[in-house]
Amino acid sequence: ICILAIESSCDETSASVCINGEILSNHIAGQTVHERYGGVVPELASRAHMQNIVPVVHTALATAKCSMQDIDAVAFTQAPGLIGSLLVGAQFAKSMALALDKPLIAVHHMQAHVLANLIPEERPEFPFLCLTVSGGHTQIVVAHSPLRLEVIGETIDDAAGEAFDKTAKLLGLPYPGGPLVDKYAKEGNPEKFKFAEPQIPELNFSFSGLKTSVLYFLQAQTKEHPDFIKENLVDLCASVQHTIIRILLKKVKKAVQQTGIRQICIAGGVSANSGLRAQLQEAGRKHGWKTFIPPFQYCTDNAGMIAITAYYKYLAGQFADMEVSPSARSEW
Ligand code: ATP
Ligand code: MG
Ligand code: FE
Repeated sequence: ICILAIESSCDETSASVCINGEILSNHIAGQTVHERYGGVVPELASRAHMQNIVPVVHTALATAKCSMQDIDAVAFTQAPGLIGSLLVGAQFAKSMALALDKPLIAVHHMQAHVLANLIPEERPEFPFLCLTVSGGHTQIVVAHSPLRLEVIGETIDDAAGEAFDKTAKLLGLPYPGGPLVDKYAKEGNPEKFKFAEPQIPELNFSFSGLKTSVLYFLQAQTKEHPDFIKENLVDLCASVQHTIIRILLKKVKKAVQQTGIRQICIAGGVSANSGLRAQLQEAGRKHGWKTFIPPFQYCTDNAGMIAITAYYKYLAGQFADMEVSPSARSEW
C-alpha cells in the first residue's frame, strides 16, 4: 500500500511517501517570509504553500523512487490549523485523488503528532501515554490503539510551544524562539532563577502565568541593570526551559500513577527540545518507564506523521469523500 501524504496546516509545506507503514520520504519546505513579522502571517503562509506544493510533492515522490501510478491513496491534514494553509493541501490532495481515481484520506494533525511515534522501528506497545507539546497544543493522550486516542489532560491557556516562544520574545530573541532557548539553555544554569509553577488540578496545564512572571521579573531587573538580559541570557533560557520541563514532567508522572501505563512517548515541536528529551529519559530510568522519543524530523510539522496515520486509516477503511472540507478547529 503506497500512500502520498501532504501536510500544510501552518507554515511548513511537506509531502511524504509511505509504503506498508514504512516512510520512504519526508520532504519539508519551511517558510522564511514570516521571520520579519515575528509570527506566522496566514495570508503569506497560504501563498507560500501554493508555490511550494508541486515541487515538494515531486521531491517526495522522487526520493521514494515512486511515480504517480504507484500511489494507492492520497492523504492530507484536515484539521486543525490555519484555514487558508489547510485549504491548499486539501484542494491539492482532492485534485490528485480525483485525477488518479484513488481514495482520499483526511487526517487530524494532533492525532498524527502522536502517531509519529509509530514511525521508528522501535515502537511503543498499546496502550501508551503521549505528551503532545506543540505550538498550539499541550496534551496528555492515552493511545488505546492507532485510531483510538483519548485526551486525558490539556492546557487551559497557552501551549508549551507558546510558553517557549513568548518568553523568548521577552528575552529579545526572534520568532520562533523555542529552538533558540534550547540552544542557549545548554550553556546556562537551570537553577539560577526561580519562576513560580502553577497549581492546576487534574492532568491539566497552564503556562500563561509563567510568561507573566518572567515579564515582571525582567521588568524589575532591567530597571536597575539595563544590561540584565544580555548578561544573563543563557541562565535565563536555562531557567525558563527548566521550569517548563518541570511543569510538563510533573503531570506525566501523575498520568502514569492514574493510568498505570508505563510506556511514555512525546510528540510535537517542543519534543525536539534537548532538555525535555534528556529529562524524560532520566525520569524513565528513575521510575522504570519505557520512553520513546521520535527522531527530530518527525517532531515538528511533517507529512511523515500524516502518512503513517493515513496508513492505519487505510487499513481500517476510513476514507473521506470529495465533499470533505478542512477545519481550523481542533475537535477530534
Ligand atoms: P500545533 O501542532 O499545535 O497545531 P504547530 O504545528 O505550529 O502547532 P509544531 O510545528 O508541532 O507546532 O511545533 C512548533 C513549536 O515547537 C514552536 O512553538 C517552536 O518554538 C517549538 N519548538 C521547536 N523546536 C523546539 C526546541 N528545540 N525547543 C523548544 N521548543 C521548540
Ligand atoms: Mg512551523
Ligand atoms: Fe504541529
